[in-house]
Amino acid sequence: MRLVLWHFMGGSGWIDASELVAEAHDRGPYFAKRLRSWIRAFLEDPHNLPVNTANTWNRSALENEDLELAISEHLQSVGKYVRAADIVEYLADPRVQQHFGLSDTISLSTAQGWMHQLGFRWRKVPHGQYVDGHEREDVVKYRQEVYLPALNAIRPRLRQYDEHGEEVHSNVPAASLPRRVCLFWQDESTFFANDRRVVRWVNEREKPVPRAKGEGASLMVSDFFSAEDGWLRSEDGQTQARRLFRPGKNRDGYFTNDDVLQQFHAAADIALSRWPHEDIVFVVDNAPTHQKREATALSARSMTKNLSRTFGVEIPILDEAGRPVHGSDGKVSKARVRMADGTFADGTKHSLYFPDDHPDPELRGAFKGMVKLLEERGYSSVGRLRAQCDSFNCPAPPPDTPPLAYYSQHPCCCRRLLYEQPDFKAVKSRLEMEMEARGVQVIFLPKFHCELNPIEQCWGSSKKEYREKPSSSKEADLERNVVDALDSVSLHSMRRFYTRSLRFADAYTKGLTGKQAAWASKKYRGHRVIPDTIFEELTNAGISAD
Ligand SMILES: [Zn+2]
Repeated sequence: MRLVLWHFMGGSGWIDASELVAEAHDRGPYFAKRLRSWIRAFLEDPHNLPVNTANTWNRSALENEDLELAISEHLQSVGKYVRAADIVEYLADPRVQQHFGLSDTISLSTAQGWMHQLGFRWRKVPHGQYVDGHEREDVVKYRQEVYLPALNAIRPRLRQYDEHGEEVHSNVPAASLPRRVCLFWQDESTFFANDRRVVRWVNEREKPVPRAKGEGASLMVSDFFSAEDGWLRSEDGQTQARRLFRPGKNRDGYFTNDDVLQQFHAAADIALSRWPHEDIVFVVDNAPTHQKREATALSARSMTKNLSRTFGVEIPILDEAGRPVHGSDGKVSKARVRMADGTFADGTKHSLYFPDDHPDPELRGAFKGMVKLLEERGYSSVGRLRAQCDSFNCPAPPPDTPPLAYYSQHPCCCRRLLYEQPDFKAVKSRLEMEMEARGVQVIFLPKFHCELNPIEQCWGSSKKEYREKPSSSKEADLERNVVDALDSVSLHSMRRFYTRSLRFADAYTKGLTGKQAAWASKKYRGHRVIPDTIFEELTNAGISAD
C-alpha cells in the first residue's frame, strides 16, 4: 500500500500505480483493485489496515520446506480428499516427531491454518474436506501431455545414479552412446533472518496474534543445480549462476522478469562452456515471471471484431540506455506498435494489418479485425458470431475432442476460434525464445508438483542446516549463513533427490495417480523407475486411485 502511494505521489496515475505494484509482486489487476480499496478504507479510517492472516499462523514451522514437503507428500498419499485432521494425526506419529525434532502435537485449528497456507494447492470443499489442486484436470493434462513427454524424450540420454549417488555406467561403448543431456533444475527460495529452530505450536484456544518480531530481514536465493555437478558454477568456481536478492524497499526492490532473463543468460553462459559436448536443458517452475511473453506477441485477447485503426500494443519508450522515458506529465511515455504476425498452416506469415499501400486509403495499415482474420483462414459466416462469449466462458468441448476441431464445428465466438488457432497457442515465452536462440531447451514443470523438482529438496536440506546456525540480524551474517547452508548440501544428496524426482515422473508416466505415485515412490526408494508389476502390487496392497 505504501508503494502504491509512493508511485502515486511520484506522478503515476492512481490505477497505474496500483498495477505497477501488483505486477512487481507477480499479481494481476484483481490484486491491484484490492490494493486500491484497502488504501481508500485506510484513508477513511487509519485503523482500518488489512491483517495478513498468513502471518498469524505459526510460520516458523511450516516454512520449514522439509516439513512442508513431508506434509504435502503425506497428504498426497492420503488421496484426493483430505481433512485437516490428517495433518494432526501425521504429526502425532512419534517417528515423525522425532525426525523433525517436534515435542508437541498441533491443534486442529492450527492444522486448518496450515491447509489454508498450503492453499496454493488445496482447495476447501464442503464437509471439512480439501481437494488436491495437484490432481486438477488441467494440471494433470499438462503433466501427462506436455511435461512427461518432454522429459521422457531426453530420458535415455540422461546419466543415471544409484541409491548412494554413484554414477551407474552402462555397458554400451562410449562411442555409440547418444549425445548426453545435462539437466539443470532452477527455482527460488527465501531465507528469513529470524527463522530459527524454535518450533512452537499455536494452541487451539490461543487467539492468533500477529507476531511482534516477524521473520526479520529476508534473502531470496535463485539457483540452478545438476546431478552431474551440483550448484551451477564455472570450472574455476569464480562465476556462479546463483543470485542472492534482498527483497523489499530500500533493499534490492523486486526480482523482475528482466532480472530473471539476465540470470538465465548468465546460467546459460556457464552451462554451455562447462558442458560443450552435451545438450543443455533447464527445468523451471511454471511461474508467471517465466511465462511472460514478448509485449508484441500474437494474442487474441484484446482484438476487435472489426477493422480498427487504433488496435496495437502499447510499449514503454526507452532511451539509449534502455531506461523508460517520462513525458512532461511524469508518466512513462508509451508508443503504440503493431502486434506480431500470425502464421498460416503452411508456414507463411499472416499479417494482422492491411498493407500500407492498399488501394483503398481507408484500409491502409489498419488492423483487419477478427472476422477478416478468420475469413482469411478459411472460416465462413463468422461475421454473425459474437466478438466473445460472456467473460470468455465458452461452452467446453466434450472430453477427448480437440478444442479446435470442436469449435470449428460449433463456433461460439470469434475470439475463441482465433484463440484456439495453432499459431496463437504456440506463442512462446520470452525466456523460452531467448534460451532456444542459444541452444538451451526450457521445460516448464507442472504446477503444484514439488516432488518433480528435486531442487525443492535442496532448499529443505539447506534450511535444516541454516536453522542450526546462530541467530543474527546483521545482513552480512544472514548472507554468509545462507551461502554456507546452500553449500552444505552434498552432491550425493542432490543425486538422490534427482533420482527420486525421476522415479515420480516414471510413476506418473505409467499412469499412477498422485496417491499411488507417493506410495510407489516410498516402496521403491532409491530406484530410478517403478517396475511394470506396480498395478498388481497396488491392488494387493489395497491402494486405490483416489
Ligand atoms: Zn465463445
